[in-house]
Amino acid sequence: MIVEKDLTLTSDIYFNADKFHDCIAELLHIEPVHINHIEVLKRSIDGRSKIVKWQLKLRIFTDNDRFSPEQIAFSYRDVTHCPPVIIVGAGPAGLFAALACLEQGLKPVILERGKDVSQRKHDIAQLSTKGVLNPDSNYCFGEGGAGTFSDGKLYTRSNKRGDVGKVLKTFVFHGADVNILVDSTPHIGSDKLPQIIQNIRETIQKYGGILHFDTKVTDILVSHQQFEKVVTATGQFFAGTALILATGHSADDMYALFDRKGWALESKPFAMGVRVEHPQALIDRIQYHTTLRPAFLPAARYMLATQIGDRGVFSFCMCPGGLIVPASTHPQQLVVNGMSNSSHNSDYANAGLVVTVNTSDYQPFARHKEDPLAGLTFRDTFERRFFESGGGNFHAPAQKMCDFVNKKPSRALNNSTYHRGLTAVNIHGILPDFIGFALRKALFDFDDKMHGYLTNDAQLIGLESRTSSPVRIPRNERLQHPDISNLYPCGEGSGYSGGIVSSAIDAINVILEVSKYCNDTTYFA
Ligand SMILES: Cc1cc2nc3c(=O)[nH]c(=O)nc-3n(C[C@H](O)[C@H](O)[C@H](O)COP(=O)(O)OP(=O)(O)OC[C@H]3O[C@@H](n4cnc5c(N)ncnc54)[C@H](O)[C@@H]3O)c2cc1C
Repeated sequence: MIVEKDLTLTSDIYFNADKFHDCIAELLHIEPVHINHIEVLKRSIDGRSKIVKWQLKLRIFTDNDRFSPEQIAFSYRDVTHCPPVIIVGAGPAGLFAALACLEQGLKPVILERGKDVSQRKHDIAQLSTKGVLNPDSNYCFGEGGAGTFSDGKLYTRSNKRGDVGKVLKTFVFHGADVNILVDSTPHIGSDKLPQIIQNIRETIQKYGGILHFDTKVTDILVSHQQFEKVVTATGQFFAGTALILATGHSADDMYALFDRKGWALESKPFAMGVRVEHPQALIDRIQYHTTLRPAFLPAARYMLATQIGDRGVFSFCMCPGGLIVPASTHPQQLVVNGMSNSSHNSDYANAGLVVTVNTSDYQPFARHKEDPLAGLTFRDTFERRFFESGGGNFHAPAQKMCDFVNKKPSRALNNSTYHRGLTAVNIHGILPDFIGFALRKALFDFDDKMHGYLTNDAQLIGLESRTSSPVRIPRNERLQHPDISNLYPCGEGSGYSGGIVSSAIDAINVILEVSKYCNDTTYFA
């Protein structure tokens, strides 16, 4: 017999093999010896009551029914002699576009401005230890894009847009822990991601795809509204049947190129604010209702949201047991972001706390009435302001949380995971007023929801500005740019996705359209 059951259990039963087995047997009214295998299909933590529990969806195999694990496989084809598709950017969108090309019989040619993952590690080390930024190889640029040294949280609200399971299985196929297929908050970790990205590269190459690193695209040549070729910073040309633009939300130069060419761009709302850092033990205490984190429970996470007037204020990319890192792409601009290792093993929890920025908020930064780049100017202005207030060298402005709320300077700062160092600053003085106002109000609300959240043991560190793009590269219903029929804006830089999984799904959807386009034209004739 094979039965599926939903069950809520305490850790002491779930993590004790004998007790777990007995509990399931009792549930099914059978002897434990009749159980062959218990497969966990889904699991999540329920921290609402005093005793934290695990919510499980199980498939139980008894008597003659045996479990055989699913073999994950993909129908990648040798594309060596297939029509080339140019993909700019090797982030999650670019890499998943390339894998989708292998399934569709298209040859991916990836052009990436940054370095491969192992060389990129050196540039990141230079930034962390010496404050030296390589504008083409950093936390955002290079093989794997902003996804490589990210955090690898793989939860998404994009379930309706495509097959999240396929994306997760692709990660498992390339070396991620199989538990990401069952956890409600799947996570890979910055320590594991580089190897997985390298494995994805090897799959692309094995089936005939090509990757060029240190290859920045600086121009796109179009004739009769058709993409013909791209030009790189070193003067090389690459031609293809279609162009996938997967350059991410930090590639200001790509938006500037579109603007110069007069190709359609649109401004869009985004969110900006700070990153907050608490001792992880404090977050554990609040979420698990105990003084010490109970055995078997992971570093606690949280997700907060509120409305202040007409603005949303919400936590973003929360990293339990994580680190705050400098995610700048410009040597005089400061951007912070968060990451964590697979074991969530630092003593601190961090999260972005960001406020909605509407297009009207950045109109004063527009060069003209319909300036699509006004949001970028706004973003850059505040990133520069934070860089200068920190005192340069990627030292980050910071303020203790109660001091921020009381608008008084912090005389000393707490220890932090941010290696470049912190500078005590009145954060209200350097944030846009509407963001400072909304954050301050929201912190009282968040403290009501999580008692003890508002504390001087926590501090605000900024600037958190790369939540999503303030610019959209528009697409028609066939996912093509309205001005260029075989140019496909894709991933986070297009403004149509946010995060690793949704960018991967977007890329898969885009390649299905590219395949239709190629079939409609003469390429497969
Ligand atoms: C520190 C950090 C932590 C994060 N944590 C998470 C997380 O836990 N979960 C999550 O879902 N998301 C996370 N994110 C966000 C996530 O990484 C992005 O949403 C995702 O990477 C977007 O994918 P993308 O491929 O669209 O763009 P990107 O990842 O930005 O990739 C774009 C690529 O294009 C390249 N490129 C740009 N311009 C050019 C050019 N002109 N020529 C050639 N190449 C070019 C860039 O070098 C880059 O490699 C994090 C981001 C950061 C920085």
